[in-house]
Amino acid sequence: MAQLIDGKAVSAQIKEELKEKTAKKKEQGVEISLAVIQVGNDPASSVYVNNKKKACEYIGINSIAYELPEETTEKELIDLVEELNERKDVNGILVQLPLPPHIDEDKIIKTISPKKDVDGFHPQSVGALCIGQPGFVSCTPAGIIELLKRNHIEIEGKECVVIGRSNIVGKPMALLLLRENGTVTVTHSKTKNLKEICRRADILIVAIGKPRFITEEYVKEGAVVIDVGIHRNENNKLCGDVDFESVEPHCSAITPVPGGVGPMTIAMLMNNCVESVD
Ligand code: NAD
Repeated sequence: MAQLIDGKAVSAQIKEELKEKTAKKKEQGVEISLAVIQVGNDPASSVYVNNKKKACEYIGINSIAYELPEETTEKELIDLVEELNERKDVNGILVQLPLPPHIDEDKIIKTISPKKDVDGFHPQSVGALCIGQPGFVSCTPAGIIELLKRNHIEIEGKECVVIGRSNIVGKPMALLLLRENGTVTVTHSKTKNLKEICRRADILIVAIGKPRFITEEYVKEGAVVIDVGIHRNENNKLCGDVDFESVEPHCSAITPVPGGVGPMTIAMLMNNCVESVD
């Protein structure tokens, strides 16, 4: 049976460590504050924003919530972000995506100061990651590296295959694995022979956005499989991009959905907030 990589346990451990660090900083007179901006009231976004606020509260980070109406203009949002960039009492700025269609997301991301870009989406943060300089790293891929390390899964020298090349998961994931000295292949919707390439992987990271797409034919015997996907199946139960039942017997380790990668994203966001005052 494969080792279950428990993201819930690892994220709880990280949150405890961050709580301690935050308390120590408070003793030294350093407060940490995260501004969380939501435009409109998309129900999924409201759930994510609420979870982020709760995590802040648990760790001892102040969260400053901005709940803006759907009709907020791009200019109004830019003005708010610029004001928050200047405020000394705000360390991190998070704009919950997606934004309403009349607002250009790229423009908003570029407006956030890279010093406060706790989501790691600013082009300067991505560029820094690319050339190995310090900067904030996108939370989901950073969480996956942390999951691998804390489960003693070595990356150096391993064949790592990433399925997906999105800006928030696939691309930064590939760069992080490279930084850990993995031998990295990135696959995407135009890749030929996906099965063959995946079967080379010692570590297979699946961020394809298609429920239970990856079955046992994609997985080498003994591989480590990390499932980034989150979907609701026909019975309203959560499932991933990996067909867990068929893949699990062939892996040495695998993340479940839920309870695998998901909880790590918020833990790493909190980590970025704490690092924003270092
Ligand atoms: P996305 O839709 O932006 O990207 C999907 C990628 O998969 C694309 O790069 C595309 O080229 C590739 N792809 C699509 N079809 C393919 C095919 N047939 N063969 C090979 N590659 C193919 O998705 P994303 O934002 O990267 O998210 C991926 C999944 O992860 C989604 O299910 C999303 O809900 C989930 N997600 C989870 C978390 C978390 O915290 N756990 C965070 C972000 C995203």
